[in-house]
Amino acid sequence: MRGKDVTLEGVSITYPNGFTAVKPTSLRIEAGEFFSILGPSGCGKTTILRAVSGFNEPSEGRILIGGEDMAGRGPNARPTALIFQNLALFPLMPVWENVAFGLEARGIGKRERRARAQELLELVALGDQGDKLPSELSGGQRQRVAIARALAVEPAVLLLDEPLSALDLKLRQHMRAELRAIQKKTGVTFIYITHDQGEALTMSDRIAVMNNGVIEQVGTGDDVYSRPRTAFAASFVGEINRIDGRIESVDNGTATIATDLGRFRARNPEQLAPGAQAMLFVRPEAVIPEHGENRIAARLVRRDLEGAFLNLFFEAKGVEFAVHVTNDGAAPEVSGDAPVMLGFAAKQAVILPTGPLARTGQELAAQ
Ligand code: ATP
Repeated sequence: MRGKDVTLEGVSITYPNGFTAVKPTSLRIEAGEFFSILGPSGCGKTTILRAVSGFNEPSEGRILIGGEDMAGRGPNARPTALIFQNLALFPLMPVWENVAFGLEARGIGKRERRARAQELLELVALGDQGDKLPSELSGGQRQRVAIARALAVEPAVLLLDEPLSALDLKLRQHMRAELRAIQKKTGVTFIYITHDQGEALTMSDRIAVMNNGVIEQVGTGDDVYSRPRTAFAASFVGEINRIDGRIESVDNGTATIATDLGRFRARNPEQLAPGAQAMLFVRPEAVIPEHGENRIAARLVRRDLEGAFLNLFFEAKGVEFAVHVTNDGAAPEVSGDAPVMLGFAAKQAVILPTGPLARTGQELAAQ
């Protein structure tokens, strides 16, 4: 199987009631890429996926798969397959027939269907489960049957709409690795929709962070986690501390921001100018008591042990500040009463605009 690239050129999608669920978006997903669209409920993820699969048409713009314009082509005429959260397996059909279902309509005989289903079941590590009924399998196994069935029609692009959300946490984590392995083995382009940042970060080659019908940032997991370009991306992908302020001065990629908690120096990737309202962001793991050029005097208010990590919550002038340290006995001693000097390095913190996006999602997607 071979993946194809998917290109959205200025695609916007407005529903008949006049609501624009996807604002003009341009995006290129490479052939054979595991690409996730990550965003909160209602931001327009499913709407994009349905447009790629042909269940709805863009109101403006074009969708190309492997360089071919998909306008006017229904779901069956596109090289795509879609897996929903609700897997819709046929309960009275054995697993192998579920997998082979789409092949009968293509005029493929029973022997070949069975052989093809067997190959796919082996691909998803269910080679010995073909004669069982779906109800005799676990949730994760049923999920893999749905993947095998979707792959049976040899799609170039597999579209997955929150396929793991019905599974329990352990199984979900296991299935992340399985899905990633299946994607790499087949070379099919996966477009995976999720509101779970952990899923997106662990599986994807690249992630599009979506908010309110706009793709705000596209990049690798490390890009969006370590180098967020918008306040929303910084806050949605992982935990982060933020402090409101105003840019005081700028210098060569960094800026100084004045806040109620003091002045701090941090990266300034959006090249904000002095006087701009802005927000300082710093991850809890980047804050280390008594280290770094930026300092905040704070008091410890809570201490949560989370296995390998110790999560410390501080308060400074009404602002809560989270600090994550490894629970290896080397964590600095902090008692509830004494003020602590928290610190962080300028290169570990970022200053981003707080107002409307400085650039459109389209410009960001084209980065
Ligand atoms: P979820 O994770 O909850 O599925 P999503 O990001 O996939 O969310 P969409 O299903 O794409 O979001 O919906 C985006 C927006 O479009 C939502 O505000 C939703 O209410 C709206 N919407 C979806 N379908 C229609 C429709 N048929 N008519 C009008 N508005 C719709």
